[in-house]
Amino acid sequence: MRVFDHPEFDHHQQIVFGCDEASGLRAIIAVHDTRRGPALGGLRIYPYADEVDALTDVLRLSRGMTYKSALADLPLGGGKAVIIADPRRDKTPALLRAMGRLVESLGGRYITAEDSGSGEEDMRLIREETRHVSGLGHDGESGDPSPFTAHGVFCALKSTVRHRFGRDDLKGLRVAIQGVGHVGAHLARELHEAGAQLLLTDIDRGSLGLLSDELGARSVAPGEIFDVDADVFAPCAMGAVLTEAVAERLKAKVVCGAANNQLATPDVAERLHARGILYAPDYVANAGGVIEVEAQRHDHYDREAVMRHVERISATIDEILTRAREEDSNPAEVADRLARERLQG
Ligand code: NAD
Repeated sequence: MRVFDHPEFDHHQQIVFGCDEASGLRAIIAVHDTRRGPALGGLRIYPYADEVDALTDVLRLSRGMTYKSALADLPLGGGKAVIIADPRRDKTPALLRAMGRLVESLGGRYITAEDSGSGEEDMRLIREETRHVSGLGHDGESGDPSPFTAHGVFCALKSTVRHRFGRDDLKGLRVAIQGVGHVGAHLARELHEAGAQLLLTDIDRGSLGLLSDELGARSVAPGEIFDVDADVFAPCAMGAVLTEAVAERLKAKVVCGAANNQLATPDVAERLHARGILYAPDYVANAGGVIEVEAQRHDHYDREAVMRHVERISATIDEILTRAREEDSNPAEVADRLARERLQG
């Protein structure tokens, strides 16, 4: 397996392969960059086909965290961890404790948090072995960051709509949301309150039906969401959803959602730009969660201050979209450049 010349390596500072025979742990922690602070990033538990797939995923996600935290103006670097395991079958207390010991061995250079396949309960077990964990909540409240992520996406969406359509309000704006899980459902409620007209989809028909009834929204089959007559497409399900084919098909003129790594390849950003579809870079729009998780690490937690910080996502999106318009370049490329500028300080 290639590591230093892996296509996603991108100057990672440290990559740790961890193994614990007794619990069956096979994990990788990637620390991409710690120039702005410790590398914070979630722990993904997923049954990767092999360690090559796991390495590719952790490297890409870890670099994404560096850029996300830099543009969210957080005193954090970027890192990520993966465990090669099926979260429904293999997630035992012994496995999570072994992961906690691996995190502890980095002495705080990497701080873990929940991600897909891991939840708050798992973080509590990890916490038994290391204090370098966030996202456990405070004052008895849940540590679930998704309402903050959703509010950040809402702010990003408003800015992107202003740039693309020249309007400040969302009344009657048609927004198609793909995935109404933790983030998508919160986003749908905020948009509904702001007067938007919603088109929703999810592979989980039960929660889709409930939310559509609650909000009086139209629901469509998962495969139809790209073709609906919408002004905005909000991907809130999985990554790599914006393929070349989807970029050709979309009727919406704005893309802004919560999913990580929405672009299947970097070239898709150029295709969206050529078609006049304004793309809000995913890691800028969805930074509300990491802003909240960072705040939870500190003794003095001020919810209002966290919300104000999340709302600054609007200004960052404004800066990116203004630059993109002035340079006639795509916003994804501008965001990456801006993040690298901030890293160089
Ligand atoms: P979630 O698992 O709660 O929700 C995802 C939803 O998408 C589920 O309801 C699922 O059934 C649905 N879905 C999956 N595949 C689909 C498909 N093909 N078509 C339609 N629906 C589909 O996850 P979440 O926490 O809401 O996160 C959503 C996305 O946002 C993920 O990509 C996640 O990585 C990203 N994200 C989440 C946060 C957060 O705070 N939770 C922060 C940053 C980024």
